[in-house]
Amino acid sequence: MSAYLKEMPKVELHVHLEGTISASTAVELAARHGISADRLPLVDGRFPDPFSDFEHFVAVYIAISKLVREPQDLRTIAAAFARSQVEQNVLYTEVTFTAGTHIDNGMDERAMWEAVSDGLGQSGPGHEIHLIVDAVRDKGAQDGARTVALVEASSAPIVGLGLTGIEGSVAEREFRILREAATANGLGLAVHAGEAGGPGNIIAALDDLGADRIGHGVAAAREPRLLARLAAEGVPVEVCPSSNVALGLFPTLEDHPFPQMLAAGVNVSVNSDDPPFFSTTLTEELDIAQRLTGLSAAGILDLQRQAARSSFAPAETVERVLSAIDAYSID
Ligand SMILES: [Zn+2]
Repeated sequence: MSAYLKEMPKVELHVHLEGTISASTAVELAARHGISADRLPLVDGRFPDPFSDFEHFVAVYIAISKLVREPQDLRTIAAAFARSQVEQNVLYTEVTFTAGTHIDNGMDERAMWEAVSDGLGQSGPGHEIHLIVDAVRDKGAQDGARTVALVEASSAPIVGLGLTGIEGSVAEREFRILREAATANGLGLAVHAGEAGGPGNIIAALDDLGADRIGHGVAAAREPRLLARLAAEGVPVEVCPSSNVALGLFPTLEDHPFPQMLAAGVNVSVNSDDPPFFSTTLTEELDIAQRLTGLSAAGILDLQRQAARSSFAPAETVERVLSAIDAYSID
């Protein structure tokens, strides 16, 4: 991989904190809690590759998330994630955090926010990490209300609300409380849509929820009018190529519609989603994006600028990140 992609200042908008737990960290957390490693959903000490389908992935993901039992576990995974973002020179990250999972797991609410803030804060001021707190579709509309209540009581660095989970399980319009709370609290709203679901889920995210960003959105590539709408409205779409292939949406990376979305003028960013689950990193995803599109290094850097402008960060943070990107010269 080109060295400049490793060093390039980056922005990441779509990555899940619970999805950054590596197989070895999962084994470590299991040991902390007296769980035998052979009870983990790993194959030869690694995540299944490939997952048999989206539901299989979700089952593994939930089992791994449940290893985070104590605030100290959360601090461990957040600090490890912060280190990995610094190593990749990610200047600004929005990481999705499913707070409800940890509350369900019995964690104290205040201790949870302290632990995640403390762990993420270890990236230091030059590599800021902010939170998007998500509700999960398949947990039902009440998870939207619960997520809003958790966020409104928190003093953690939260910049957005999210909607994730299995598309089609519960309609987008059932989560209107997320839109209302985002507007009331000055937060962004990022909705996973058109991943395993179809173009209709993207349309519902836009029309029923007023989504500020779409997570994945690759189903739009099947519907030229929707692609044109996304481009015309400048809707930021967070694309995660390796995740989509690992979950069987496309047979190979070469079949991924990222080049088509870019060519249609969609405001795309490149993201890692759940990097160790898909044996990837943000740097590798950018390498893939460059390979699929033939973008120059300057073109990849422009994607970072576009991601910064599509972030939910305060204006002064966006300006700082854009200045740092401008100061970076490609040799
Ligand atoms: Zn995601």
